[in-house]
Amino acid sequence: MSQAAADRHAWTEPKVEDLGGGVHRIPLPLPLDGLKAVNIYAIADPGGVDLIDAGMAIVAARERLTEGLRQLGYGLGDVRNFLVTHIHIDHYSLAVELRREFRSLISLGEDERANMIATREMINGTGGHRVFGADSLRRLGAAELISSLSTLERQGPMFADWEDPDRWVADGTDLDLRTRTLRAVHTPGHTRGHLVYHDAASEIMFAGDHVLPHITPSIGFEPAGNRMALRDYLRSLARTLALPDARLLPAHGPVTGSTHERVNELLAHHDLRLAEIHQAVLAGHATPFEVARAIRWTRRQCLFTDLDLFSRIMSVNETAAHLEVLQARGQVTRQTSPEGADLYQAAPLAN
Ligand SMILES: [Zn+2]
Repeated sequence: MSQAAADRHAWTEPKVEDLGGGVHRIPLPLPLDGLKAVNIYAIADPGGVDLIDAGMAIVAARERLTEGLRQLGYGLGDVRNFLVTHIHIDHYSLAVELRREFRSLISLGEDERANMIATREMINGTGGHRVFGADSLRRLGAAELISSLSTLERQGPMFADWEDPDRWVADGTDLDLRTRTLRAVHTPGHTRGHLVYHDAASEIMFAGDHVLPHITPSIGFEPAGNRMALRDYLRSLARTLALPDARLLPAHGPVTGSTHERVNELLAHHDLRLAEIHQAVLAGHATPFEVARAIRWTRRQCLFTDLDLFSRIMSVNETAAHLEVLQARGQVTRQTSPEGADLYQAAPLAN
């Protein structure tokens, strides 16, 4: 591994990072190709510990969490709260597993309710495919990806029991912990019910997957689906800029100095993406699938065909999200093909 690549992955190393003020970062392993770890943040006081996010319900993550807490002088039974940023399995599922054994309480953003319902429908087989985003592939002009899905659906994702949290948290709720108050700020986009937990007094933000330092969060990759996910996301980024700047404590990646700095980069990234996608429509690519194949992906500028199946599904959905924003801005128009696929066209120039 190159030095740059090694540095880039340093945050995933299994150790506990002291961030001061009783806050510690504990990275837990993930069994995913792209993402190697998820950060859990422990907020400790003499009476116990509250955790931001929980990790994935796999043995390796549970062991690592146990070891991390032990180094801080706690056990799993000392966890009072899991303040989960969003419903994704790498953030939520270990909380559900541990709640069965210990009496910890789980909090989750109230707008994740729709995703909880859709997840259960997906598991029970009443909602069509068992991979999010799959049901919309035909509409996105990517019917040919559907036939490959059965392999992916057999491999997983792992369907833990999806159980409701103890508390559905509303936007703007102040959560009084023993050592600090966190404000839950609704930041839809990555998922519709995503929350960041902002501690204005200490100038830190537990950002979940809303703002990540190295990668751009996936948008609207959620069981309930959301046609306006990117519009919501861009608004959530603007909302984050309107809050006082804070240290960025992300769920994936290292802790960095400024939430605002990264938000500005993300806004610039999406502006560029919107321009590229607009260009692809001007060049005659009509469905989200066609547009996704016409542009480059990841930091490495990969071709669409070089992506794995899961990433291709994500990319088509992400392209669709950008097209929907372009449509909302009047830059493209949308029609439906006889097969039910979305067809985009450049909007006629205003005169
Ligand atoms: Zn995540």
